[in-house]
Amino acid sequence: MATTILNKKSFGTDGTEPALTPPTMDPGGTSFAKKPKLSGTKKKKSDIPEGLWTKCPKCSTMIFDKELDENLKVCSKCQHHFTIGARERINSLVETCTFEEMDAQMISVDILAFTGTAAYKDKLASNWKKTNLKDAVITGICQIGPHRAALGVMDFSFLGGSMGSVVGEKLTRLIERGTEKNLPVIIISTSGGARMYEGMFSLMQMAKTCAALAYHARAKLPYISILTNPDYAGVMASYASVGDLILAEPQAMIGFAGPRVIKDTTNAELPPGFQTAEFLLDHGLIDAIVPRKEMKVRLIEYLDYLMVGKKAAAAA
Ligand SMILES: [Zn+2]
Repeated sequence: MATTILNKKSFGTDGTEPALTPPTMDPGGTSFAKKPKLSGTKKKKSDIPEGLWTKCPKCSTMIFDKELDENLKVCSKCQHHFTIGARERINSLVETCTFEEMDAQMISVDILAFTGTAAYKDKLASNWKKTNLKDAVITGICQIGPHRAALGVMDFSFLGGSMGSVVGEKLTRLIERGTEKNLPVIIISTSGGARMYEGMFSLMQMAKTCAALAYHARAKLPYISILTNPDYAGVMASYASVGDLILAEPQAMIGFAGPRVIKDTTNAELPPGFQTAEFLLDHGLIDAIVPRKEMKVRLIEYLDYLMVGKKAAAAA
């Protein structure tokens, strides 16, 4: 079980390489001859402070971190979309100071007293500390252009964006609030799937979120699902794939089981581009691929069409 979790976490994750490559030492060289060379390299290294540059994993360009942040974590040379945190993404989409977060303090409980390679309790503690997040999703009501909307944004840095009972419950409450207030629901997902540490409680969230979405649809309100890299398993098999409109970021990896598992199971060569957003657009699963920098403008356009004649309930 623990191995499965580890494998899932590695699906499509962007391995961001350190900005500086440490100088290689010639194993055959004598220390006498080596010394002056090394001190020269060290001096050069200190000219470029660490942590200011990031190497693009796709085109190997060194990008100034400030520039990368200003460009919403998209490589300006090859348009590679780096992983972006939930808060950063919310800031890029909603009008300033309009995000009213819901259930901000809700945290997971280790109901199964799960122990394995790592205990769930310890994993939670280290992730709270590492990410400054309470769980893998942030939800709230906000303003996007002229539209009020119920927005849920997942964060891959918290336990691989896995869906446990907190992710499921927060999203369900968000969708229910949307239904109650006549608001469109937008969920931006990135996930390795269900959170195995919570076993069945995690899997139940698939049905719960979809049931809430069914009530939302019955009220004739739109739900836009935005898929970002990576998006797999239990999340793709539930709320992420049932949007009235399904959008994706360029080159996001999207699927149920990962390509390696499918290849091993079917013993067949996979077609080029398998499980990329572009492949899934060609095959009809996705309605549009929207670059991150255009997302806000496009969302407003879609909501303009989808919310015609619908008024948000007062005091959302
Ligand atoms: Zn690049």
